[in-house]
Amino acid sequence: MKLLLFGGTFDPPHRGHIHNLEAAIRAVEPDLVVVMPAGIPPHKAASHTDGEIRLEMCQCFRDCFPNLVVSRWEVDQGGKSYSIHTLEHLAREYPGARIYMAVGSDMLLTFTQWYRWQEILRRATLVCTSRQAGDDPQLLAAARELERQGGQVILAPAPALEVSSTQIRQGNAPRELLPPLVQRLVEEYHLYQEKG
Ligand code: ATP
Repeated sequence: MKLLLFGGTFDPPHRGHIHNLEAAIRAVEPDLVVVMPAGIPPHKAASHTDGEIRLEMCQCFRDCFPNLVVSRWEVDQGGKSYSIHTLEHLAREYPGARIYMAVGSDMLLTFTQWYRWQEILRRATLVCTSRQAGDDPQLLAAARELERQGGQVILAPAPALEVSSTQIRQGNAPRELLPPLVQRLVEEYHLYQEKG
């Protein structure tokens, strides 16, 4: 079974995330997609949206794939989330599954700074989508280097859609870059009214 994991803070989920996930789905053709909003360290909790609301917003990903679950595991763990712990959890929950991890280019380019990154490479194939037009040569170089270290990296082709959650929170990106469900929840919970 091919399991595609898509993790992130998702504060809020936006079209760039959907774009990334759809490109990864095309590249991997998974049997199951697991979307995993991250826990937040206690000292940052006040400046971030509550896990329950981020879980609700992540329901927007359901339209991307018929067999998709939004997991509350990292949120329930509380505190900062580490991908290696999540991969160990998924290996226990789905024994024998081959795990793929969808990431944006910023994540691939900083991958060797991640906690226990060599073990992540042993447990998962990285599936990377560009976030910035023109970064393909850098991505290719980073992918080759990680492969040299024994990892497996798939570059999922898709034109970059340059938007971030930070831009949305700060009011610097059009709200149309939010899926309709997320737009509704942002209004209902009065999110992102203070800039930052
Ligand atoms: P923030 O601005 O709060 O740091 P973000 O927009 O970078 O948030 P995250 O929730 O941190 O979003 O990202 C989750 C995953 O989605 C990461 O792997 C990230 O690289 C990827 N991602 C985010 N935005 C895009 C985008 N526009 N295109 C492709 N991938 C993206």
